[in-house]
Amino acid sequence: MRPTPADRAEASAQTPRIRACPRCGADTLTARTPDRVAAVDVRADPRPIDPACAPPGRLLWCLVEGDHIPARIRWRDRWHATACTHPVLIDHHCQPQPVQETLL
Ligand SMILES: [Zn+2]
Ligand SMILES: [Zn+2]
Repeated sequence: MRPTPADRAEASAQTPRIRACPRCGADTLTARTPDRVAAVDVRADPRPIDPACAPPGRLLWCLVEGDHIPARIRWRDRWHATACTHPVLIDHHCQPQPVQETLL
């Protein structure tokens, strides 16, 4: 079966890409999760982190890559996390903007 244009658009949306965050301008890795039902558009920091050092309350994602499959960002649930060997990405949170004005 040949992929339809909709399939191609979906595959494209799922391909991780570096894009600037529209709010803070930092480099972020964006992709849609490959879930048929509850796909999520992820914006993560581009550098993998050590999940043991992740701040509490931040979402973590797996960067799943294979020799023969395109890279995908996947939801990292706590069951998967116990056996996970993927690079782990953390949800992007904008850094506080440096204060431009001085209050004198
Ligand atoms: Zn994983
Ligand atoms: Zn940001």
